[in-house]
Amino acid sequence: MEVKEEEWNAQRQWAWLLPVSVTELEGVGARRAAVLGEFGVQTVGQLLLRLPRRYIDRSRVVPIRDAPLGEEVTLIVSVLDSPGQQPGGRRRSFRRRPPIRARLGDGTGELECVWFHGHHPHLNQGDTIAVSGKIERYEARRLQIAHPEIEPVGDGAIHTGAIVPVYGSGEDLKATGLTNRRWRSLVRAALNRFVSDIAEPLPDVGEGLGLPGIQASLQAVHAPASMEEAELGRRRLALEELLGLQTALARRRQARLQCRGIQHTARVSVAQFVGSLPFSLTRAQQGVIEEILDDMAAPSPMCRLLHGEVGSGKTVVALCAVLAALESGCQVALMAPTEVLAEQHFATISRHAAFAQVSNALLLGGRSSSDRRELLAAVSSGSVRLVVGTHALLQDDVRFQRLGLIIVDEQHRFGVAQREVLSQKGDHADVLVMTATPIPRSLAMTLYGDLEVSTLDEVPSGRRPVRTALRRSHQRPQVLEFVAQELAQGRQAYLVYPMIDEEDGAGTLSSATSAFNDLSKGPLAGFDLRLLHGRMSSAEKSAVMSAFSRGGCQALVCTTVVEVGLDVPCATLMVVENADRFGLAQLHQLRGRVGRSGEAQVQAYCILIADPDDDDIAMQRLQVLCQTADGFTIAQKDLELRGPGELHGTRQAGMPGLLIAGPADEDLLLAAREQAIHMVENAGREESLYE
Ligand code: ADP
Ligand code: MG
Repeated sequence: MEVKEEEWNAQRQWAWLLPVSVTELEGVGARRAAVLGEFGVQTVGQLLLRLPRRYIDRSRVVPIRDAPLGEEVTLIVSVLDSPGQQPGGRRRSFRRRPPIRARLGDGTGELECVWFHGHHPHLNQGDTIAVSGKIERYEARRLQIAHPEIEPVGDGAIHTGAIVPVYGSGEDLKATGLTNRRWRSLVRAALNRFVSDIAEPLPDVGEGLGLPGIQASLQAVHAPASMEEAELGRRRLALEELLGLQTALARRRQARLQCRGIQHTARVSVAQFVGSLPFSLTRAQQGVIEEILDDMAAPSPMCRLLHGEVGSGKTVVALCAVLAALESGCQVALMAPTEVLAEQHFATISRHAAFAQVSNALLLGGRSSSDRRELLAAVSSGSVRLVVGTHALLQDDVRFQRLGLIIVDEQHRFGVAQREVLSQKGDHADVLVMTATPIPRSLAMTLYGDLEVSTLDEVPSGRRPVRTALRRSHQRPQVLEFVAQELAQGRQAYLVYPMIDEEDGAGTLSSATSAFNDLSKGPLAGFDLRLLHGRMSSAEKSAVMSAFSRGGCQALVCTTVVEVGLDVPCATLMVVENADRFGLAQLHQLRGRVGRSGEAQVQAYCILIADPDDDDIAMQRLQVLCQTADGFTIAQKDLELRGPGELHGTRQAGMPGLLIAGPADEDLLLAAREQAIHMVENAGREESLYE
């Protein structure tokens, strides 16, 4: 699974870089050193590895009059009106909190900066600031930058050179007691005095990619002559970092390939199971099942990530793996993040004849202790062969006799440590983790670089895309009328709310409990509605879910307990209240609960209810969902819309655990991976450099 802390961490990897105390620098005494230390900067190397967050590039500073629309620009402006709440601004409701605006000008024109939510910087009238962001035209005439990056401009900042590095917003740096200006001179001093001491770690790695050496790279990122130079320097440092990470991952993978696991070669029951299904497998499913069975038959333990769009049919694939392991006499553990989903998997398994020969169990939290003890005894003696469960599987007293396969569904809902705990319960058991959350490939390779990856890139044919629409809360009566019509035709619906009851959200959001009361008396009276949320007991949840999946009730009024994994093919309607309160990936998952039926004549709908302002990012986010059904596109847009902090500026949002490399460095990642695998396989002299 993910690389573990003890195997690699960026700080440790860079430990060789100028491990000299910052007190060696002029002007840094014990007190300043202590403050910097709290900030993670103890050595000169650590100081130099704090790359500028961005640069003020003077060649790109333009007067407002000439600023191109829709492009990233930097402006030097004065604050005409400081940010403040707009008239009528006491939060009327959460949904329509007025944006914060500031008016800025530079003699050639004026523009407005706007913050829709979250923090806005403290600006005083008359301040001179550098503002970076994308200029848009707003209400025909006004120019506006939403969520700009802002940097106070001291006298020195613009005059020190053509390109000025910015190490943090004033706020971030405040903690260190240093201004950007002071930080810059500290870095300059460090470069002047120490950079020539740095030995090149692996002279030829960057060369092939046209990248400079480490010395030149550090010089280039902190004191660039051009933006291109700064970027080349950054890339060389990113490559160095990725090499370290990929080497650790390659070692880990090699260690796994060298150990001996269980060879699950039996396939009879898989073939029978596949033959008994009421549908034929998609081409993608067939391919992935082959990959998995090959891994399972191999002597080394499997460690595979199965990545598939919502509704692509991962469960069937998982069940094939389960059967292969059972047939070879092993035990299997299948873990899901919610009780509702674990129960569903258990019910699916109980339906299929293929699993009838082996004894199965469902392990959830909150069982009576005598039941639990009995069940655990059966698991540890090996008489129960297949255990489906939630986090309850992770507890110490859950022991297996011969655990041969571990499957984790919706694995992104679990932490690394949790998956590791489950792995420890077997002796080199095969591991299959499944997820529907698409992440960029670069991120996947950073996080899961030692896993083999299978992708289900096809959903079963014959399904119609879900029709998605955004409706305002004043249109709720029509939406509910539509729901009533659909229910009257025998369809089933999910009505999702952001909260369980009113106390959870200070009255600004709708809650499942109050909606349940209102709907059953009002617009949906006469239909069989059930309430479902996470605070109900396991037994209650289970009763509601089984009624819903049998068609015994028509609509679930619920919270996001239904978000992942649920599979009720007859449900065709998903209504999400306060949709702007949910993440895009989450909404995509919720929508994935409907439109699962193979009956082509049945149209499924997803209706998002929210009241975002037209110019709000929330609006754009919801529109993305209305326009595309593809999880990858949605994930990408989500990243783009998450706000300028992560998006704008020279420095890309970093990747977890890395100081320098970011998602844009995919080519470097591939090069590093290739090099790392080569080094580890040849376990030669070079490898020792990356200890
Ligand atoms: P997910 O990948 O989201 O976990 P599921 O495994 O829950 O998807 O499958 C979604 C639905 O599609 C289930 O009802 C399942 O029975 C059905 N299904 C799976 N594979 C196929 C197929 N090849 N053809 C038709 N329906 C399928
Ligand atoms: Mg699933």
